[in-house]
Amino acid sequence: MSERSQRVAVVTGAARGIGAATALRLARDGFAVAVCDLEEAACADTVAAVEETGGRALAVGVDVADAERVESAVSRIADELGAPVVLVNNAGITRDNLLFKLTEADWDAVLGVHLRGAFLMSRAVQRHMSAAGWGRIVNLSSTSALGNRGQANYSAAKAGIQGFTKTLAIELGRFGITVNAVAPGFIATDMTAATAARIGMPFEDFQKFAAEQIPVRRVGRPEDVAGTVSFLAGEDAGFVSGQVVYVAGGPQG
Ligand code: NAP
Repeated sequence: MSERSQRVAVVTGAARGIGAATALRLARDGFAVAVCDLEEAACADTVAAVEETGGRALAVGVDVADAERVESAVSRIADELGAPVVLVNNAGITRDNLLFKLTEADWDAVLGVHLRGAFLMSRAVQRHMSAAGWGRIVNLSSTSALGNRGQANYSAAKAGIQGFTKTLAIELGRFGITVNAVAPGFIATDMTAATAARIGMPFEDFQKFAAEQIPVRRVGRPEDVAGTVSFLAGEDAGFVSGQVVYVAGGPQG
């Protein structure tokens, strides 16, 4: 495929975890991939992994909650890689605490990255999608959207992502753009390792405990989420929009 005809995908928070696996998967699917994370240098491993498989990738340092940096990052991606037509809003943080101990800073930080970040990135990238008459936005929600002790900020953000997804699906459908959310359950990444560390449990034990509550009796891998994103980003999902797909090893809700 020539560079000019290759579709371009943007994945935020792609230095590691689910974002890195998704960037690799989309590259395997034939996309050129903008690997975005807070620090450009942190994206080097993911870019190298894409290039090892013969794919094209660009490392982009961007704080998704910063409007100016988002605008310049998306312009740079369009100039250096091509106009983006797939966006995976994956960047995320947790700042867990029970409500009575939850600070305003931790509330704002979590809503800032997940909700403001998804808004700013989607607003910037949809211009290119509308111009192309084709686009796919996939937002990372979570089973925590349904409520999770100690995560009032995170669950509010992840539930907000679901409303945001459905509204964008309604607004952007006429331009050939679908918008869906993927809501993972327990996925073994640095994020869940940090949760284990915070509660003082070895990560192995934490995963074993989690697996016992999951119908398929295992925790998720980043590739489980990447596979679902791959479907939603592809041609076959053109009539699927405004949906929340739980990737959690069992039913939710
Ligand atoms: P992770 O391993 O912690 O990776 C998240 C990535 O996002 C990190 O590289 C992080 O960079 C980056 N990031 C944080 N703030 C950012 C910002 N403002 N701008 C750009 N990048 C930023 O997390 P993960 O487990 O792969 O999770 C990925 C997504 O899936 C998140 O939205 C998360 O909420 C969601 N999710 C995860 C699980 C799970 O069980 N792991 C379950 C449900 C949903 P730094 O390293 O510099 O902070």
